[in-house]
Formats: sequence, structure tokens, C-alpha cells
Amino acid sequence: MTCRFEYKEWMPDRVRKREGETPKKSKICKTCGRSFEWRKKWERDWDVVKYCSDACRGQRPGEADAALESAIMELLAERGRDKTICPSKAAKAVGGKAARRDWEGLMEPARAAARRLVTAGKIVITQKGRVIDPDTAKGAIRLKLR
Ligand SMILES: [Zn+2]
Repeated sequence: MTCRFEYKEWMPDRVRKREGETPKKSKICKTCGRSFEWRKKWERDWDVVKYCSDACRGQRPGEADAALESAIMELLAERGRDKTICPSKAAKAVGGKAARRDWEGLMEPARAAARRLVTAGKIVITQKGRVIDPDTAKGAIRLKLR
């Protein structure tokens, strides 16, 4: 009896784990472009979850973000293949570069725009000439056409 009881206890857990592998795989946030993992609170609507956090859901990409994406693509096209740009170039192109405050606030949005372009397969993010994972990028990054 003990044996059968233990078996029952053990089975559902095993099945649940196997089911979890495919549908609960990580997603990429539509705002910040970072990947995020399945969480219990999204159990019912994981299929439609698009943002990693409430903050990101509150800041869905708007016109400025679309402009940053376009600026990145235009600047890279101008520079040519295998050349890189700093995300601040895109921030300055969109915000204006007369004063630091004009573009400083666009730096993180520019990095997020770059991550979205990586997700879209259009560019890569590099550090010291090597392609890196946008999720774990810290410090200065450069952008390059894919
Ligand atoms: Zn996010």
C-alpha cells in the first residue's frame, strides 16, 4: 500500500514537468526586448502575455520608440555593413543633440529599441567586437547590422 501511495504522489509532478517544457518557454517583452520566464501568475493567459512587467505594459512602444528603431536602421545603413554605432547616436538623432538633456532620457529607450531589433533579426548587439546576448549586456554596447 505504501508503495502505491508514493507512486501516485510522484506521478502528477512528473507529468506536469513534462508539459511545462514547451508551452511555458520564455518570451521576449514587446517593450524592453528582454526575455522573461513563465510565472505562476500568468498560468491562465501565458499565450497572450506580451510584456515582462506592469512597468513595461504601461510603456508600450510609442512614436518615439518607433523613431528610435528607424534611426538605428538608418544610421547603420549610412555607416555600411560591418560598421557599428553607439545607441546614443540614435538617441541624439531622435531627441536632438544641442543639450545633453535632449537625448539622455532616450538612452535606455534606444537600448530597448536595439533589443527589439535584435529580436526582429535585423541587428546584433556587440561588445568589444563580439556579438553578445542582449539580455545580459552590461555597460557600453554597439549596434551592427545583422
Ligand atoms: Zn519588459
